[in-house]
Amino acid sequence: MLTPIQVENRLERILLKVQKPGRYVGGEMNALLKDWEQVGTRLALVFPDIYDIGISNLGIQILYDLVNQRSDALAERAYAPWVDMEELMRSQGIPLFSLESKHPLAAFDIIGFSLPYETLYTNTLNLLDLAGIPLRTAERSASDPLIIAGGHACFNPEPMHAFIDAFVIGEGEDVLLEIVDAHQRGKQAGLSREAMLLALAGIPGVYVPCFYNVKYLEDGTLASINPTIPGVPKTVIKRMVAKLPPPTTRFLVPNIDVVHNRVSVEVMRGCTRGCRFCQAGMITRPVRERSVDEIVAAAKEAVDATGSEELALLSLSSSDYTDVLELVTRIGDEFGGKHLTISLPSLRIDSVSVALMEKLKDRRSGGFTLAPEAATERIRRIINKYITDEQLLETARQIYSRGWVNIKLYFMIGHPCETIEDVQAIADLCKRVLAEGRSVLGNKAKVHVGVSTFVPKPHTPFQWVSVDTTEQIRTKQALLMHELRGNAFKLSWTPPEDTMLEAWLSRGDRRMTEVIYSAWKQGAKFDAWQDQRHFETWTGAFSSQNLDPSFYTHRPRRVDEVFPWEHISDTVRRKYLYNDYIRSLSGSIHPDCRETCDACGILPTFANTRREYPGIYWKCPEVRSPASRKLAVTGGG
Ligand code: SF4
Repeated sequence: MLTPIQVENRLERILLKVQKPGRYVGGEMNALLKDWEQVGTRLALVFPDIYDIGISNLGIQILYDLVNQRSDALAERAYAPWVDMEELMRSQGIPLFSLESKHPLAAFDIIGFSLPYETLYTNTLNLLDLAGIPLRTAERSASDPLIIAGGHACFNPEPMHAFIDAFVIGEGEDVLLEIVDAHQRGKQAGLSREAMLLALAGIPGVYVPCFYNVKYLEDGTLASINPTIPGVPKTVIKRMVAKLPPPTTRFLVPNIDVVHNRVSVEVMRGCTRGCRFCQAGMITRPVRERSVDEIVAAAKEAVDATGSEELALLSLSSSDYTDVLELVTRIGDEFGGKHLTISLPSLRIDSVSVALMEKLKDRRSGGFTLAPEAATERIRRIINKYITDEQLLETARQIYSRGWVNIKLYFMIGHPCETIEDVQAIADLCKRVLAEGRSVLGNKAKVHVGVSTFVPKPHTPFQWVSVDTTEQIRTKQALLMHELRGNAFKLSWTPPEDTMLEAWLSRGDRRMTEVIYSAWKQGAKFDAWQDQRHFETWTGAFSSQNLDPSFYTHRPRRVDEVFPWEHISDTVRRKYLYNDYIRSLSGSIHPDCRETCDACGILPTFANTRREYPGIYWKCPEVRSPASRKLAVTGGG
């Protein structure tokens, strides 16, 4: 294995031959270089896309900070080299290395991949290969690092089951530290690789796929997923931090221009809106908030520590943060006039949101984003994101009146029960929004329309639904392209091929593993990049495995079908999801569950944790202790 000095020497020969060499040198402000020899566990955190995208990944920044706070462990980072760099690395025999110490990744004890979305899978294989690490769990020996992965995509880990030793299901802050502890104990005890994996499987929230067996029915659907050895849980329940830890403030400051050069403070985690298409809203429950004081202090510290000119206040639904007005006022007071761009994403469509944005904005060059998702009230009821057209138009009127010239509207096509009239309604609604703008700003008013295509994700009420075919998607997109011509509109959409790939990968079972491997072997990588993704490679990979891609996308699901992710629990009950799906078919909406708890099922699992954190910190109802329940029933007699 090359030494770090050998890696550096070889790098020197190639760095000036590639685009943006700053991607590969490390040494950023707030990066940490710890003594390799003084720690028991060396962890490489990997975002399997290029530096420009991965550097701002909040999950990696949080875990990097947490692990490096320990004296007995270190965390370094690696990203995917762009194609020019990869070619030179392979030709010069340079393995994938960490940015901090330039150690080859194969020298680390643990490699942790961040997998927030599925189109990173082939890059993950490519990076393992570039690191010289056997691709499959079964081929790895005691001297190879443990390969772990976490992130939202891991809520269906099966398509990657053969390549990843252990998946972290849910939030990583506590569990990653437990994995480091287990590694150190295992190392001291001289455990074999299998015994080490068994130790990981004993950590709540860790799924080790090699200890599970899958059986299929004749029709190709699953019969069962079961552990193969005693002591391994039948169902892996997600991890959830009961109280959000203090926010990270020592953000890495990128060396080069990147996609999001900003510091971020997560104001809350989870969402109680219950939009039926939204996987994040289901798998991140319950809502837990940070206090205004903590957020403002962290924002100030992060801006001071980095000199950043952009601050993002992150959450799935910013308007729902309990003290949003106070937060925005305090942030405005703190940073007003300091030329800091502050973003508050995912705002509700109402006048309060306009007032909030007004408080935060120094200048109005950017657009104002609204996400109605659907243009008819019928579909908005089906997806449980209910607003009226009048609410949307009134909000648009206020936005244009306050000086924004561009409104970005996000819609989805392919919703369950959608007709072509529902798609026509998107165009009609966009025209009405533009008319509002024109009545205030004349021809300066613009509407940017982003249209993605719905993929029914695991762990949502729509997991029983099929995906539109490419032909259906093309017909709907053609209609929108025809209707939304002209300079006032800017229309962007997701190519149907990208939707199919996302659906195959997110809904796949263990057999998808060989499809992914075959696609990678045929050159698939950077599948999240439209100019790099080759659809034919993927259809060819399905053929090579004698699998029909439509099995994963267009087939109606039986009510009792065993899904490939059945053994992975986000604690929202399957019965709740199914009942909610049935409710959707009659257009029945349910309000934000903070108003009335909808009994989604998470509280029975986390009842003890809820009792430890009473009051309004969680947005779920309090759970009484068994003793006090008994007291209520018996009256204490
Ligand atoms: S337990 Fe009730 S309040 Fe909490 S997330 Fe589930 S439905 Fe919402």
